[in-house]
Amino acid sequence: MEQTKTAKQYGTRAAALLQRIRELSLITDEPGIINRVYGTPAFVQAGSLVLSWMEEAGLEAHIDPVGNIRGRWDCGNPAAKTLLIGSHYDTVVDAGAFDGPLGILLGLDLLELVTGLQQQLPFHIELLAFCDEEGVRFHTTYLGSKAVAGLFETELLDKRDEQGIALRQAIQAIGGDPGGLAQASVAGKELLGYIEAHIEQGPVLYERAIPVAVVTGIAGQKRILLSFTGEAGHAGTVPMPMRRDALCCAAACILAIEDFARQQAGLVATVGKLDIPHAASNVIPGKVDCTLDLRSTDEEELAAAWQSLQKVLNDICRQRAVLFSYNMVQSSAPVSCDPRLIRLLSRAIGDAGHQVVSLSSGAGHDVVPLSAICPVAMLFVRCYKGISHHPLEDVEEDDIAATIQVMEGFLKQMVFNYDQ
Ligand SMILES: [Zn+2]
Repeated sequence: MEQTKTAKQYGTRAAALLQRIRELSLITDEPGIINRVYGTPAFVQAGSLVLSWMEEAGLEAHIDPVGNIRGRWDCGNPAAKTLLIGSHYDTVVDAGAFDGPLGILLGLDLLELVTGLQQQLPFHIELLAFCDEEGVRFHTTYLGSKAVAGLFETELLDKRDEQGIALRQAIQAIGGDPGGLAQASVAGKELLGYIEAHIEQGPVLYERAIPVAVVTGIAGQKRILLSFTGEAGHAGTVPMPMRRDALCCAAACILAIEDFARQQAGLVATVGKLDIPHAASNVIPGKVDCTLDLRSTDEEELAAAWQSLQKVLNDICRQRAVLFSYNMVQSSAPVSCDPRLIRLLSRAIGDAGHQVVSLSSGAGHDVVPLSAICPVAMLFVRCYKGISHHPLEDVEEDDIAATIQVMEGFLKQMVFNYDQ
């Protein structure tokens, strides 16, 4: 009887949360699709709505200098540490409704519970709705969480969007303060940790019919530009044995990359963009540039994979008399979630009656910058067929209820195990 009552209570909260997700999803710069990149009118409107929800929940809420919406619940003890909970409210173009808002609203739901409690918690809680995780407008991710972690590089302010508007101007336009970003940062010693719930963005939980999973870490990533230089020539006159076709060479290399990654557990490799300068149907391609995205949660394996791949690519290019060169565009190290928080979160999942499954994240999240200042944890929530960054992105109401229960269990674990 008691159990049915509890299940019903989670169900009611899940329905209310889903309602808010729907409400947020209607705030868009382009009617008919969800489009809410940093600094646009829809972005500002969504931020105001989140702010008003935080205020209604009884939190001390404000918008920080970069545009993060922050709501604080104070436990009354000035010496106590703070638990951060959050996710992001910006979206990609033609996004789904759940990527980001789900984590914010799960935190809000938990804080609504906390503000209604009779007894005090031993620590403060701050809810963070980060302003730019996707990095669509300025091609640079984690603007909001970098500011909170004190990692915001000032040269980023000069980055420009496609209209030529500098990030500095965009921050001013939303009422922020590009000169005061340091005020957004939090000292690590004041923090208990950061937890984020997020849709899995992959098919594992969907395929295995499990609602949630604990995340062990975020994959490190290398983005490399590969260049193949052969010799252009007439498609009708250069005999086949005499050709140095850069595109055929690139094709052989791309298949070799796929083959290599298939044989390495934990490694994923993707060539997502191919550029053939001066391409024409009657010209043998003389040059090809392509991107390589290489990810693994193991830093040494990632470095070793790139070393081995260079040898593979060099060998293929040598055989085809094509010149190979590369440019490392971006390299980020893997991030490990905190073992203690993983343990507490796993316990909460088990207590809620679910199988405890561990997954690593191939996608980046706001936990990456925050891991520089405090222990971090992540909870993955099953999403329909693993689809994300797409209108078909969906989460079942039952899974939201399950996640609410796990988040609540995690908070209880944090309280039981709090020692200062
Ligand atoms: Zn996200």
